[in-house]
Amino acid sequence: MKYIVVTGGVISGLGKGITTASIGRILKDRGYNVVPMKIDPYINIDAGTMNPFQHGEVYVLADGTEVDLDFGHYERFMDIELGGEHNITTGVIFLSVINRERNGEYLGQTVQIIPHVTNEIKLRIREVAARSNADICIVEIGGTVGDIESMPFLEAVRQMRREEPRENFLLIHVTLVPLTKLGEQKTKPTQHSVKALRELGLQPDIIVCRCERALAEDVKEKIAMFCDVDKRDVISAPDTDEIYEVPVLLENEGIFESIRDKMLLNKSEKRFYWENIVEKCRNLSGETEVAIVGKYAGLEDSYLSIKEAIKHAMMDLRCNVDIMWIEAEDLETDEGAMRKLERADGVLVPGGFGTRGTEGKIRAIEFARVHGKPFLGICLGFQLAVVEVARNLAGLKNANSTEFCDDTPHPVVDLLDEQRGIMKKGGTMRLGNGVVIIKENTLAHRIYGKTEIVERHRHRYEVNPSYLDMLSDAGILFSGTDSDGNKMEILELPNHPFFFATQFHPEFRSRPDRPSPPFRAFISACMRHATQHNAEEV
Ligand code: GLN
Repeated sequence: MKYIVVTGGVISGLGKGITTASIGRILKDRGYNVVPMKIDPYINIDAGTMNPFQHGEVYVLADGTEVDLDFGHYERFMDIELGGEHNITTGVIFLSVINRERNGEYLGQTVQIIPHVTNEIKLRIREVAARSNADICIVEIGGTVGDIESMPFLEAVRQMRREEPRENFLLIHVTLVPLTKLGEQKTKPTQHSVKALRELGLQPDIIVCRCERALAEDVKEKIAMFCDVDKRDVISAPDTDEIYEVPVLLENEGIFESIRDKMLLNKSEKRFYWENIVEKCRNLSGETEVAIVGKYAGLEDSYLSIKEAIKHAMMDLRCNVDIMWIEAEDLETDEGAMRKLERADGVLVPGGFGTRGTEGKIRAIEFARVHGKPFLGICLGFQLAVVEVARNLAGLKNANSTEFCDDTPHPVVDLLDEQRGIMKKGGTMRLGNGVVIIKENTLAHRIYGKTEIVERHRHRYEVNPSYLDMLSDAGILFSGTDSDGNKMEILELPNHPFFFATQFHPEFRSRPDRPSPPFRAFISACMRHATQHNAEEV
């Protein structure tokens, strides 16, 4: 097994996740079986209970583990499906060390960070890498070198480096080279962060420098000299507005050859051209506007996978889509927000938790339904579509989800018995891959072209089975259910141009060259709407 460890210096938020994913992609294009692992130096066991305001979206893996959004980059760039064991947090490590201690496994020793915690870290990394059958395991260490939290992990990495054969271990350090107002690229922060690494006994093999503009040659030379690497191993990673371009940028800098020569890799020939994917992001035509009505609309990272799934659909349909972010709460009071909705060619209501903004989202859904605008609802968006139709078409005034109103007279969305009673935070959600059975001759069937699909889930509440007849009479067609037929998974309104919602999250399985079918169908409906609209205006 070969290991590439990626650390970060200077500041957080450098795009280390995208760099890691891109390196994985570059190696995969040469026929290597690569698997990523992410170390998060926080004490949470997983990202499930973490606030998206602080961390961006919670990404859900096939096995239901809730992880941070870097896993989305890994899965999308490398086109793989990962399991929860690929995410190691301080919490996971400590829990396991403490359990071992309670079970008497340390035979009365004093349990310490070194060697017990560091041994546990090394063991985990090696076990997960071995089980994955990969050729190369890329381990991204979250946080910034110098943080107290990441010390045990860096120490474990230092030990691993000594224990593994030289060619099986590579350290890539990602840093920032800021630009002064006068246009000068400053290397001091990079020098300092490499110094901090060295104090921990680690010398980087390759330094990837994030910068506004490509690094000047003399800047590379300076970094090479002060940080004791070859100039070819100083890789310039300038800002780009298209993240899918990063593998190509790094490749053009010769990162593959650097890695190959140090790790004695013998497969060099490219078998897949990622450039073809990048090309699809360019030269898009047309103007289609999609409104995303969310709760964290000011923080687009909370809807990262949705944004990416829209982009994948755009790439496939070769059309330009502008996203309008609308804060759901504004739709409750602000007419300006409502007018924005009028301009949109389609309305997307994504998933969410908590009462705030739900009435605004319901207004957006009503607007899309009444005005024949394409609508895509995801998870909470699906549940609120049920509420909207119940209130406005089935005559069930004050219908609601019991998540938002405990004593609603019409709990059209509710906890099922199996979920009641186990309402402990974090442990009760339907999470991860689940089979969905699709009815024939429905929009869902046309979209997926199959009667059985697998999609990822992350929710607690379900459509209340006692209201199914009433909802059907009001015009909702539940075209997808779980395999027992008890839980509703997809709804559509057959007499609307495009009104489609899913209880699951199709965005998590969307890939740059395989857009999620509901997203593709939705964007295509929005394009039709835009064309009609423009024709009417002329
Ligand atoms: N809050 C809803 C539930 O728990 C929807 C969850 C979501 O949108 N991810 O069922």
